[in-house]
Amino acid sequence: MSMAGPKHTQINPATGEVIGTVEFGSGDDYERAVKAMLAAKEKWALTPAPVRGEVVRQIGQRIREKQHALGALVSAEMGKILPEGIGEVQEAVDICDFAVGLSRTLNGSVIPSERPGHFMMERWNPLQGCVGIISAFNFPCAVYFWNVALSLVCGNVNLWKPAETTSLVAIAFVKLVQDVLKESGHDPAVATLVCGHGKEIGEALIQDPRMELVSFTGSTAVGRHVNQVVAGRFGRALLELGGNNAMIIDRDADLDLAVRAALFGAVGTAGQRCTSLRRLFLHADVYEEVLGRLKQAYASVKIGDPLDSQTLCGPLHRPEGVKLFTTTVAKALEEGGKVLVGGQPWHGVEKGGMLSHGNFVQPTVVEVPATAKVLEEEAFVPVMYVVKIKDLQEGVKMNNSVRQGLSSALFTSSPTSVFEWTGPTGSDCGIVNVNIGTSGAEIGGAFGGNKETGWGRESGSDAWKQYMRRSTCTINHSKELPLAQGINFGGGNENGGEGKIMD
Ligand code: NAD
Repeated sequence: MSMAGPKHTQINPATGEVIGTVEFGSGDDYERAVKAMLAAKEKWALTPAPVRGEVVRQIGQRIREKQHALGALVSAEMGKILPEGIGEVQEAVDICDFAVGLSRTLNGSVIPSERPGHFMMERWNPLQGCVGIISAFNFPCAVYFWNVALSLVCGNVNLWKPAETTSLVAIAFVKLVQDVLKESGHDPAVATLVCGHGKEIGEALIQDPRMELVSFTGSTAVGRHVNQVVAGRFGRALLELGGNNAMIIDRDADLDLAVRAALFGAVGTAGQRCTSLRRLFLHADVYEEVLGRLKQAYASVKIGDPLDSQTLCGPLHRPEGVKLFTTTVAKALEEGGKVLVGGQPWHGVEKGGMLSHGNFVQPTVVEVPATAKVLEEEAFVPVMYVVKIKDLQEGVKMNNSVRQGLSSALFTSSPTSVFEWTGPTGSDCGIVNVNIGTSGAEIGGAFGGNKETGWGRESGSDAWKQYMRRSTCTINHSKELPLAQGINFGGGNENGGEGKIMD
């Protein structure tokens, strides 16, 4: 449907070229969308879960058929390299597959009742209200599917407000989802999209009491506001916010694995993953060796056009990213840092000079003192700080010393260290890895982080429970009315125990 809000031009971050114009929604458009969702709600909620799962199976299949084209669109609009664009689309397919299985296993439990002739059970019902999904630019389709695939099989109606600058990806995916809904006889309003600015459409969504669950992925600064607004109206917020992820390479680590994982963690998606590696803690015994290998590995990284198969590091998504990169490096230097690799914006001359208009920077490694304040903040650029540590305990302390708590990794060959790291005195993050890097999570596990990362969990495991309403049901199939805890209310003997109430 046509929208009445402002027009927004979508830019290719590698070239600065305009690749499309999108009509953003107005407040009236938002209202129209929510009314259509509410009208579709009851029928969808009453559709059996496995039938909803079959719709999600078809959605996954439709995405699979167009995976390459969709991946190329993700690359062109977001700026990540093509294999990562296609990989992100694969993640959407994977979570649809997961949701199909889930649609037959939204199980509640049967609980033994203490009262004779009584039956207790938990039933999981769709939410009473709607689900609002607000997403960030860096995973323009996967985050949506982490939410919507689960929420659809749970029986909810869903409204998506994507990042302003990745609206084309959002339109392409929602068109595909709505086509499947229509073809299978369901109301397309079950999965609705309103593109628009965070301060208008996003703000309207978080304030709206009809949005029972707000799933927000984005910066900690905006997430803090979202959390306060949603809590203020007793809605539910599922928050996936900024990370500040660390890797420890201990003295007994396999250095080949560790260096490869550090490179992918820090340079992949040009440092614009919430799980990107920002802080690398190296045991003093392997410090020089790892730095030498890292310098070599970084030298082989080709910066350039994300659609070129040789490229490993594409552009930053927004021009502001280049400014952030420059100020981040400058701050690290002010605090006693030393640039070991990179440190400058990058101006490409390929593609007839087109890349010189892109938002490119050199992947960068900066050695900093353990006390540097830059270690405390997430800068969404490919800058990795390196710090020397004397032992694993110091590394764990440094890992846990920041306000964010998303992803963490330890490289070691010691089983004792593995169990310490994953146990009560180990990493305080939501994702605690051993001998693999900080980024690249699988959909089967619950994904999310602690502390200022927001405590949200999405995708696998039991994350689906957040999209449902738990009803604890006690059914009396006897002719008596005993009370719990044996309470005798007004009748029966004085010693209690019979638990009868007065007729
Ligand atoms: P952002 O916070 O600027 O924007 C995120 C979304 O919020 C956008 O859709 C934006 O339009 C919307 N928004 C802005 N103001 C709003 C308001 N007042 N009310 C409602 N919505 C509003 O984040 P970004 O720059 O797009 O993304 C980068 C950040 O996202 C990083 O911090 C990154 O770590 C984080 N992130 C976290 C995860 C995770 O799973 N933990 C995943 C991806 C990205």
